[in-house]
Amino acid sequence: TYPYFLQPEHIESAIRELRGEFVEELLRRTLPQTTMYEWRFVHIAKRFGVLRGPWESGKMHPRKIARAYEGTLVAEATLNELIHDKMDIPLTTKVLERIHAQEIEILTIAKKKIDDLSPLAEVAVNQLRFTGFVIPKKPDRQLAEKVQRRLDKKEVRLICMWCGNYNVISKIGNLDEKPTCPKCGARYLAAVSPFNEQLHKVLKKHLRHQQLAPEEEKILKQGYKSADLVLASGKKAIIALSARGIGPKSASRVLEKSYDKEDYEFYSEIINAEKEYSRTRPFWGD
Ligand SMILES: [Zn+2]
Repeated sequence: TYPYFLQPEHIESAIRELRGEFVEELLRRTLPQTTMYEWRFVHIAKRFGVLRGPWESGKMHPRKIARAYEGTLVAEATLNELIHDKMDIPLTTKVLERIHAQEIEILTIAKKKIDDLSPLAEVAVNQLRFTGFVIPKKPDRQLAEKVQRRLDKKEVRLICMWCGNYNVISKIGNLDEKPTCPKCGARYLAAVSPFNEQLHKVLKKHLRHQQLAPEEEKILKQGYKSADLVLASGKKAIIALSARGIGPKSASRVLEKSYDKEDYEFYSEIINAEKEYSRTRPFWGD
């Protein structure tokens, strides 16, 4: 399952350009996209006692489960186990060094049919096929459209930070380009998770001039930051804020980078920010 036609020269130059110190990083980035990883993930998640319910009866594809837990401790454990059990980084590094030193020669043979492969190559090719090992590439238009469809279906809670009298849950796809509060006409709307019931309560308290606890101050501040972005960029800000794990700070970065650009580039920035999030998220949950 190669994403595009892979020529033997591509593989050869990739091997030549790969430096030993990047092997582990490369594995950590690519392994989560393999079938091997997905199955191992499910196995480990069960051992951790994380998986119960429908997935156990095999109703849910391991890929879905693994994606849902991206960036979690179980994901980290899966990677570590795979690298420990299945990969030999020190030896790979040594081989790469010898290739660079031209002590090992790379011989490229283009074969048309699988039957022409040497027994050793056949094992390797079958392994690759079995693991679904793919080469990661830059987000493409198709992927951007997929993310757009996913986010269009997502629900978001909009709260008017100006009057505090508007608090609704809406599907992103149904929103206007510049959503306004129907109560007061302001475009000062905070976009938060549908499950966030705190912000509206805290805002109400604040508008009644009641003293806020430090924790509540923080929630209110986040709300204002979110509303600042929506005021400036409308629906685009709401979309960015609703992406997985993207807070006001990285949302504003996404909006800055894709300002005046095509939709496709906007969603590509979102994809990058989501990836960054799942890479750095240290603990469970959103
Ligand atoms: Zn309002």
